Amino acid sequence: MEVVNTNHMVFYPQDEMTTVLLPVTTGCNYNKCSFCAMYKDETYKEVPYSDIENNLRNGYLYTEKVFLTGADPMAIGFKRMYKILKLIKEYYPYCARVASYGSIRSIANYTMEDLSILHDEGLRLLYIGFETGRDDILKLMKKGHTASRAIEQAKKLNEADLMFDTIVMYGIAGKGQSISNAIETANMINEFRTNRVITMNLTVFSGTDLDRMIKEGEFIAADGAERLLEIKTLIENLRPNSPMIFDTSHPTNIISIRGTLPRDKDKLLKALERPNILV
Ligand code: SF4
Repeated sequence: MEVVNTNHMVFYPQDEMTTVLLPVTTGCNYNKCSFCAMYKDETYKEVPYSDIENNLRNGYLYTEKVFLTGADPMAIGFKRMYKILKLIKEYYPYCARVASYGSIRSIANYTMEDLSILHDEGLRLLYIGFETGRDDILKLMKKGHTASRAIEQAKKLNEADLMFDTIVMYGIAGKGQSISNAIETANMINEFRTNRVITMNLTVFSGTDLDRMIKEGEFIAADGAERLLEIKTLIENLRPNSPMIFDTSHPTNIISIRGTLPRDKDKLLKALERPNILV
């Protein structure tokens, strides 16, 4: 999902389409993930407070939802995030939810207490790219975290009561690896509580490390049938203790299904045979 914002491309989750977008960072402070081309040509910058305040000043007093834009606004650290949330409260007193992308790497820099304070100041949803539960694939894709680190951070968020969506990517382990990838990814997710699992389909963008790896025969992509089997295996192995949405409706997906686990497990598995159905 993308929108052109004079100088920068702004990426945001499709569910935030009607949310007020507030730029907090531009570019990506990490910019190393093998599959990612989103911010390749952009320098990382934190948007100055004065610009943030100007944006808020020109906004609508009765705004109810705000999405902080940037690859990983959590990278700005606790003090800055706290100040921005305070500003949002000041200008949009009716705002009930601030959401943002957040990486495992950045969340690791916050204590549970920090996260709990940010929650109380209005930060209510993070979208986090976990991608996979397999360490070898996380390393191959230069994600900058391990599965155990991801679980640790997810548990910290649970403790702080800060809700998050878990973004995973099927096809990321390559040909012949999809079943094991799905099982290990499900095992990882089963360790914590998440609002929703959002699946993305591995897409190869020109100029990325992944593109080079494919051209040099270091990575062989899984075909559509294997990717479908990966989604099926993931659903079969997810065992949430509380309701968790399973959502493949992001435009990169080869199918579009959505439902709540564990309640809709059978319906979701059936829907895989008849795609584009929301159960
Ligand atoms: S996937 Fe996210 S963290 Fe990785 S390079 Fe792209 S924008 Fe940065």
